[in-house]
Amino acid sequence: MTTSTPKTVLGTVRPGSTHMVGDGFHVRNLFPSNRLGEAISPFLLFDYAGPTQYGPRDPEREGPRGVGEHPHRGFETVTIVYQGRVAHRDSAGNAGVIGPGDVQWMTAAAGIVHEEFHDPEFTRSGGVLQMVQLWVNLPAKHKLSQPKYQAITADAIPRVELAGGTGLVRVIAGEHAGARGPASTFTPLDVWDVRLAQGAQLGFDVPAGRTAAVVVLEGAIAVNGSEPVGDAELALLSREGTRVALRAAQDSTLLFLSGEPLGEPVVQHGPFVMNTGAEIHQAIQDYQQGRMGRLDA
Ligand code: MN
Repeated sequence: MTTSTPKTVLGTVRPGSTHMVGDGFHVRNLFPSNRLGEAISPFLLFDYAGPTQYGPRDPEREGPRGVGEHPHRGFETVTIVYQGRVAHRDSAGNAGVIGPGDVQWMTAAAGIVHEEFHDPEFTRSGGVLQMVQLWVNLPAKHKLSQPKYQAITADAIPRVELAGGTGLVRVIAGEHAGARGPASTFTPLDVWDVRLAQGAQLGFDVPAGRTAAVVVLEGAIAVNGSEPVGDAELALLSREGTRVALRAAQDSTLLFLSGEPLGEPVVQHGPFVMNTGAEIHQAIQDYQQGRMGRLDA
């Protein structure tokens, strides 16, 4: 019998940037603003929007809050909604509303154009918006794959309950305690939405060699014996070792992320993430010439 080796906490970061995305998403960015670079591969971006209270507004007269038509190429966007409702539509003809507990896993790959707004009903009533948008890089050989879209509703996400009702793991992608997440991914990944009550502990092993991070949205979590990691903070773990042990110092909501590092060059220009400058140049041309499609008026 072998004993698993704990991963080491390499460091903890706070948001490196706080800004508005359009007029609908007040975000705290954990990366790339903290320049974690290859250490966080295959993940590219983590924006934590809210929780922000929005007043009621007439979506017909004043328009919905959010971000209008914009492109993406070379990666996937994963939108996880905790509170509020986000409506989107894209140039591939997909449209829908992401509500509390739902996840949208959009593979931009070769290119997509989309918009992301507060849902009209939520705009009209106002309320609290709390969501995460995570960007997952694609390996070079899949960057120009066909765009794809997975609307993952809350009821499709398996829930692993901790003994005594002290916690819950919703497996969005990857596997935990025999439960497999519904998201289809291009490389092995874990994305788990975890809730732990104060004092609860959760231990698990991650496949060897993976990037791993614990992002606390609300609460306080000790990671492998660390000082508690607080609201909107990320603990980056070593690739060495496999064991992760979480202990909640307060009632907490966190995301656990893990993935195989891609080990390929990353060249980003706004909404395009490719491997070379020439590919970025091509992406800009393709977008401008309408080769990523357009939204219907
Ligand atoms: Mn977008």
